[in-house]
Amino acid sequence: MLIFEQSKTGRGTDVLGACDVPLVQLDVAHKRASTLHLAEVSEVDVDRHYTALAKKCHGVNDGFYPLGSCTMKYNPRLNEAVANLPGFTDIHPLQPAASVQGALAVMQMLEVALCEITGMDALTLQPAAGAHGELTGLLLIKAYYQARGDAKRRKIIVPDSAHGTNPASATMAGYTIVNVASGPDGCVDLSALEAACNEEVAGLMLTNPNTVGLFDKNIRAITELVHNCGGLCYYDGANLNAVMGQVRPGDMGFDVVHLNLHKTFSTPHGGGGPGSGPVGCKAILADFLPNVRVAGEDGARHFMRPAQSIGEVKAFYGNFLVYLRALTYILSLGAEGIKEASENAVLNANYMRVALADLYKMAYDGTCMHEFVMDLSELKKATGVSALDIAKGLLDNGIHPPTMYFPLIVHEALMIEPTETESRETLDAAIQVFRDLYRAAQESADTLHAAPQTTPVGRLDEVQAARKPVLRYDFDQ
Ligand SMILES: *Cc1c(COP(=O)(O)O)cnc(C)c1O
Repeated sequence: MLIFEQSKTGRGTDVLGACDVPLVQLDVAHKRASTLHLAEVSEVDVDRHYTALAKKCHGVNDGFYPLGSCTMKYNPRLNEAVANLPGFTDIHPLQPAASVQGALAVMQMLEVALCEITGMDALTLQPAAGAHGELTGLLLIKAYYQARGDAKRRKIIVPDSAHGTNPASATMAGYTIVNVASGPDGCVDLSALEAACNEEVAGLMLTNPNTVGLFDKNIRAITELVHNCGGLCYYDGANLNAVMGQVRPGDMGFDVVHLNLHKTFSTPHGGGGPGSGPVGCKAILADFLPNVRVAGEDGARHFMRPAQSIGEVKAFYGNFLVYLRALTYILSLGAEGIKEASENAVLNANYMRVALADLYKMAYDGTCMHEFVMDLSELKKATGVSALDIAKGLLDNGIHPPTMYFPLIVHEALMIEPTETESRETLDAAIQVFRDLYRAAQESADTLHAAPQTTPVGRLDEVQAARKPVLRYDFDQ
């Protein structure tokens, strides 16, 4: 039952105290024309309603959540404790800089740490998400060519193994996309890339590890080819979980990179935010970074506008509390811990991959990074059980499904990212579930077509949900 359906006129309305400021009359233009529907419920109704909803959800705190490309790792409670300190939560973005020196120091320290981790010279924390970071990074590239009076570079090369947001962001930044195919090994086809490189290319966006979980073995050759035609190289670092502490985009020839603090750097996500997608860049792009940046030292930190700034990309200073979680995470792990985290992320993915490879067909051969992709098209042909059916079967076993039908270049794809925070026991249990489901596909396909049976809602009509979503509650029904 929706909270609105529990509403009883007059109930719970006395929680607001009497108004203690002078009443101001709004002019007609600013007044509502219709009644405002608010649920009139008591405090205990509200509490029970949302507690019941929370119990129906599956989160990282409930169980295994191997949602590929999303890095649903466990976020240490320490990060939350720090982000909840009143000295950080009870400040206002319009306070004078002199009164928030600590908060400015947090931003500066995080910038320094992320520059070190990515091999970049300067960084903005402002973008609110990964895709927002991509747009920001592309606007830096655009501003760079504009400042040089180079108007003919209007194309961005995007390999087909890129994350879907890459071509979308490049289009939003006003670029034309040049698609480059991957070879059978899942890596960028170098001769196709070479053919695409010319003086109209502003840059290349590379997702690495790419969406099939592979580190492009030709990465140096890729950045060289693009630089040789005068373009810049953008690194989609949302998947940095696999490589942090091991290699740095800056050392591999990249000029711009975005990170997803809400994936790699341990901010909870999946509930729609808030996130943070910082963008690091080489010195040649630093003057174009968004307004504002933090400058100065202890006691005299202040905000400044970079000389040729592309302007604001987000209100105030971005999602500040996410920075606290990221900085706490980085400082508590330290350089060694960061390195160990990525090693374990890759180890866990390969452990699962090898333990399933005799039954499930892997989309690509060889060692993967932090995630791997299975291709269930043969299973579907033989048994009628699809990737979707296996995903639904996982739900009945308390496991959140992997990413399905992505990347698009693999049919019947299941993309599994265990993350480094899972124990061997959890991985073994999940492997057993996958193996049992494979057997169930051979023996009782219908059970899987009917899954899930144990969740609050069963099999949804996904076509109807996508085509005719019901997103509003009709009060007059
Ligand atoms: C998640 C992800 C993005 C987009 O990040 P958002 O925060 O969802 O906008 C971009 N690229 C890759 C590789 C990703 O995994």
